[in-house]
Amino acid sequence: MKLSELFTKTRKDAPADEVAKNAQLLIKAGFIHKEMAGVYVFMPLGLRVLENIKQIVREEMNAVGGQEVQMTVLQPKEIFEKTDRWDDAKVDNWFKTKLSNGTELGMGLTHEEPIVDMLSDYISSYKDLPVSIYQIQTKFRNELRAQAGLLRGREFVMKDMYSFARSQEEHEEIYEKVAQAYHRVYERLGIGDITYRTFADGGIFTSRFSDEFQMLSEIGEDTIYVDEQQKIAVNKEVIDDERLAATSVDKTKLKEYKAIEVGNIFPLESKYTDALGVYYVDADGEQQKIIAGCYGIGVSRLVGALAEHFSDERGLVWPENIAPAKVYLARLGNIPSVISTADELYNRLTAAGITVLYDDRDARPGEKFADADLMGIPYRVVVSERTIQAGTHELKKRTEAETKVLPANQIVETLSK
Ligand code: ATP
Ligand code: MG
Repeated sequence: MKLSELFTKTRKDAPADEVAKNAQLLIKAGFIHKEMAGVYVFMPLGLRVLENIKQIVREEMNAVGGQEVQMTVLQPKEIFEKTDRWDDAKVDNWFKTKLSNGTELGMGLTHEEPIVDMLSDYISSYKDLPVSIYQIQTKFRNELRAQAGLLRGREFVMKDMYSFARSQEEHEEIYEKVAQAYHRVYERLGIGDITYRTFADGGIFTSRFSDEFQMLSEIGEDTIYVDEQQKIAVNKEVIDDERLAATSVDKTKLKEYKAIEVGNIFPLESKYTDALGVYYVDADGEQQKIIAGCYGIGVSRLVGALAEHFSDERGLVWPENIAPAKVYLARLGNIPSVISTADELYNRLTAAGITVLYDDRDARPGEKFADADLMGIPYRVVVSERTIQAGTHELKKRTEAETKVLPANQIVETLSK
């Protein structure tokens, strides 16, 4: 991708009303555009980051047997009435809309009811179970405060998976497998070491805990207590003695941190399947309850959380597997030999399967370096009249101060690894 052709530009300042560091950085780098509070557009580079995260999530969900679907945003009111989640007094962050004939519709804030309702068309026998279905989709929630940038959107991207099992044991086996898949997701995103599986409240319909995945961060809304030795944590909301006794945490070792909830998994027992009247028939012809679980990951929240974490005073610092491109190729100057050498290196890198942001603009070196840093591209390569004369070009990592000088073929070789 050539920067001279890129639709977006970096900018000096974020909008004055943008108070969140993640959104300020991402807006300045041209990754997102603020439409209104809690509502952001993903621009070309931001979309690449979002897609990279989605792909990691997708691969790990597929690896534990998840099947991807795409459900609808528009939802019928009736199914939410059956679970008592339609009334605004019960669920206060709905966006609702109406057909021209007055029929009320909801705009998906979650999908337990629609998926369970759909299930009844496809699941009847024990042979049809277990199944795990997921989607990566835009959710709508009328959040009271939406001032944390991508961390709390009114429109945001979530991965939500729902599992359906024939027994509590079968459910628990799936639940643990998915929890392990979550650890792999956060590991691959580069935040494995600061993300803790956290005992949290299970909600109104279960005495069990739910499990949050909390990423340590000063700006997080949650307070958690971490047991470093066991690599687990407890949410402040369940930190009383009685509930702690049911966990394996060592109360004397807990340390308090602020954290961002980057995922959340829930045992649903048979609350939704019972409410919507969905059962299966076992081998003996008896009707049985279906035990469900739900598994969320805040995909667009992660873009914000990662931006908060992977950044310094100069801008973003993306890990390689999330970055919108691996290399920032800065061409300094416009004389024909510089243009042809830089063009050739761009073509060679691209042919080697390396993603390159080619800064072919007519701009000052300082401006190019500042943009490379602000965008957080992992490697920077510089081609100039001077480097051509030396027969070597400059290669620098975003995370290191040191610059290497290497001939073009060795640059391609190094970056191919
Ligand atoms: P929170 O406690 O942060 O309000 P939640 O418990 O309501 O979130 P879930 O309904 O379980 O969240 O959604 C699954 C995941 O989606 C959350 O773990 C979080 O990462 C993400 N998420 C929830 N609400 C938002 C939002 N408004 N903007 C961005 N991501 C969100
Ligand atoms: Mg929560």
